[in-house]
Amino acid sequence: MKVKLPFYRSIYAVRVNNNYHVKVELESGNYIHNHSFESLQDTVKLADKLLEVGEIDLKHWESEDTKNIIHQKYLICQQKRQTKAHLWDGLDTLCTMWGTGGLGNAKGYKLYKTNLGRDICWMCLKNSQQNDRHLT
Ligand SMILES: [Zn+2]
Repeated sequence: MKVKLPFYRSIYAVRVNNNYHVKVELESGNYIHNHSFESLQDTVKLADKLLEVGEIDLKHWESEDTKNIIHQKYLICQQKRQTKAHLWDGLDTLCTMWGTGGLGNAKGYKLYKTNLGRDICWMCLKNSQQNDRHLT
């Protein structure tokens, strides 16, 4: 069954166990794409592609209730000790540095449930306080 994607912020990159999946929020419930990725970058690429197409085929998706979803909202590069924790809104950091390539080699970045003791990126913080954006 093919369904249209309702709007931009209804699609997310989420962590499921140790891998990343694309997640969509539909009126009938939330669904997780069957394909799992090791890298967050590839997951966001698939989400972008799906947004371009504008519709999904539910045979490749599974209801969220059957998966163990971890809603992690901190994007951190553990290899770079000096970097800050960014707030993740599903497809980009709130400071939009991920989307604009400002984080450099995005491959080392992963999603975490906590900020791992890092300082939070001030642009992300500012944006999270200014508008009521939904964090996954
Ligand atoms: Zn940031």
